[in-house]
Amino acid sequence: MLTDRINTLSESITIAITTLAQELKAEGKDILSFSAGEPDFGTPRVIKDAAIDAINNDFTKYTAVDGIPALKEAVANKLLRDNGLTYAPNQIIVNNGAKHSLFNLFSATIQSGDEVIIPAPYWVTYPELVKYCGGTVVEIETHDASAFKITPEQLKNALTPKTKMLVLTTPSNPTGSVYTKDEITALGKVLEGTDVIVASDEMYEKLIYDGEFTSAASVSDDMYQRTVTINGLSKSVAMTGWRFGYMAAANTELIKATKKLQSQSTSNINSITQMAAIAGLDGKADADIEMMRKEFMIRRDEAVELFNAIDGLSVLKPDGAFYLFVNIKEVSNDSLKFAKDLLAQQEVAVVPGIGFGSEGYFRFSFATDIKSIRTGIKRIEEFVKSLK
Ligand code: PLP
Repeated sequence: MLTDRINTLSESITIAITTLAQELKAEGKDILSFSAGEPDFGTPRVIKDAAIDAINNDFTKYTAVDGIPALKEAVANKLLRDNGLTYAPNQIIVNNGAKHSLFNLFSATIQSGDEVIIPAPYWVTYPELVKYCGGTVVEIETHDASAFKITPEQLKNALTPKTKMLVLTTPSNPTGSVYTKDEITALGKVLEGTDVIVASDEMYEKLIYDGEFTSAASVSDDMYQRTVTINGLSKSVAMTGWRFGYMAAANTELIKATKKLQSQSTSNINSITQMAAIAGLDGKADADIEMMRKEFMIRRDEAVELFNAIDGLSVLKPDGAFYLFVNIKEVSNDSLKFAKDLLAQQEVAVVPGIGFGSEGYFRFSFATDIKSIRTGIKRIEEFVKSLK
């Protein structure tokens, strides 16, 4: 009954573990979950008020498929203000979350025979979308020793005449690594003279603790022309459930193609979310963003210290996002078994590294209160002791 295309898809391992943890919690178990990729803060008041106004003003009907003009203008202003990038309204489309932006982008550009380079560890969705669109995933492996970043040499070696796209995620989910301007410039140089699209997923842009954020399209004109910038508000202003994301590209034909797909599939995103998103983009929530960033940084610092004090585990201090990618190679070479046993024995949920394409690690989200982080890491320590 089902198509070959749908059968290429696997279930998201992060969602699977988070759901399992929620079910066990509902059964009354004392589960501590560090698996979800969402802030534990509420959406800022100013954004909620904009949504309530939208409802009260009956802004509840179909809108332009690619987003209302005021929202696209807010996106363009944000990209100019924060990233120094100039995009016209026909170079921007608003989607149902950045995941949907990626789905539309991959659907419009990837087909059988195309290769997509994905640095590993990667966010779980990328390879699934490539397979769904009939493309081939080309992984570039990275390790904690190189701060989980690919080098220009690795990129050069992965390129073939079939390469259609490079996916770059900075800050990274699951490692929190952030590429510097020089590093992105060097990667961009390798791509000069090719037609390779760079899909730059900048979802965690606002969560930077050390160093600076650089938008891939901003490093050179060549990179501006080839890059599709993907971003949203899910992580920066805790709007995961509202479903708002966007992509921007120099290539207007590409944006037009994704608009066509959207017009025949989901149509416009929720009208109320669009009004709320304007408030999230135009600076009104900046104080809330900074409050969350500072709080995440305090948690990061303490969690890194606690993990590195555990015999058998080690972790790099991530420059951004809200994840630690903890190395378990001294105690386990099977991250799925590690995560399952940890959940069963200590009632702690983490995501196995294998789900992100890297064996020998687990992902720990510190978008959870500090008390739970402390208790959770203590339980993980007990579990690790039992393995020795
Ligand atoms: N990109 C990355 C790297 C993510 O980690 C996530 C969410 O986990 C997304 C995109 C999707 O975000 P959204 O909620 O806007 O679909």
